[in-house]
Amino acid sequence: MEREWEKYFREVDPYVPGEQPERPDAIKLNTNENPYPPSPKALEALKGLDYTSFRRYPAPEADSLEEAIAENYGLKRENVFAGVGSDDVLALSFLTFFNSEKPVLFPEITYSFYSVWAKLLKVKYETVPLVNFEIRPEDYRRENGGIVIANPNAPTGVLLPLEAVEDIVRNNQKSVVIVDEAYIDFGGTSALPLTRKYENLLIVQTFSKSRAFAGLRIGYAMGDRNLISAIKRVKNSFNSYPINTPAIVLGTAVAKDRAYYEGTIKKVTATRERVKKELRSLGFLFSDSMTNFIFARREGTSAVDLMNALREKNIFVRHFATPLLKDYLRITIGTDAEMDAFLAATREYLKEHGEL
Ligand code: PMP
Repeated sequence: MEREWEKYFREVDPYVPGEQPERPDAIKLNTNENPYPPSPKALEALKGLDYTSFRRYPAPEADSLEEAIAENYGLKRENVFAGVGSDDVLALSFLTFFNSEKPVLFPEITYSFYSVWAKLLKVKYETVPLVNFEIRPEDYRRENGGIVIANPNAPTGVLLPLEAVEDIVRNNQKSVVIVDEAYIDFGGTSALPLTRKYENLLIVQTFSKSRAFAGLRIGYAMGDRNLISAIKRVKNSFNSYPINTPAIVLGTAVAKDRAYYEGTIKKVTATRERVKKELRSLGFLFSDSMTNFIFARREGTSAVDLMNALREKNIFVRHFATPLLKDYLRITIGTDAEMDAFLAATREYLKEHGEL
């Protein structure tokens, strides 16, 4: 029986993240993590941490971290806001910028957290269908209370060319346009330079993917100072010290080590291109991915059955049980050895089931 007070609960269907198996030997290709360790500068910073400093609150504006991010991108500090992963930054952006009677627009297939935040915050929204998994800028030429696109998109992996991103922003200068660039470092061109031209454009990035720092939870928004100060006002009405001291100190070290993460990206993208060829030769179909994952299906092969068979071998890939996505598996790019194990297990499954 429902208790009286339960009628007043804010009910939501939460976002469901990929499984984090306990087994240390698991081959984890299900949450788009980086298979390589973060910058060794983070380890140095960790060793240098003074644990007695933990008795104090952290810097409310994560000063050193925001400064290091700003410097890395040639921005001023006033153009950067850092938060607890890009999920935090995106959620705060929804809260700050999307408060209109007109619907916020985002693609029908995209990061599934967008609709969760919209529902939680009671933001009106409409989804826009993709065409062959591609975003068509002309579909965003209508009244709206804001726009969010992930570029490259997830879980499709498809990159929208910079001109098309600019087309969307140029035609929507009355509402805030958020471009979620969680995967941009794996082969795309960031729309960051456009923030100088368009005051309503917000770029959101993360240290979780290309910087191999998902566990420390660092994400950031970049854009015009008015957008940034508006998010900071909302954040300061919510939680004064969201980023903890170790994350600020280690994140600052990571932000500065550009050469290291560029090397990691090269390794991941080289493996990705090889895996694309191998998956094609096994008969898989997928749009070209510019991310650290491949979203693939295969005629005559059940995605769920293959996922479960891989799981038996301690290899984890991601499946989304929705009508539009149920035939696909999202496979994160791991190390070469991990991808070889995944490809061998997949080949074996297909042979055993007479599908190859
Ligand atoms: N945006 C997209 C498109 C993502 O796939 C993810 C990862 N789940 C995020 C944002 C959030 O990443 P994080 O909070 O780790 O920065």
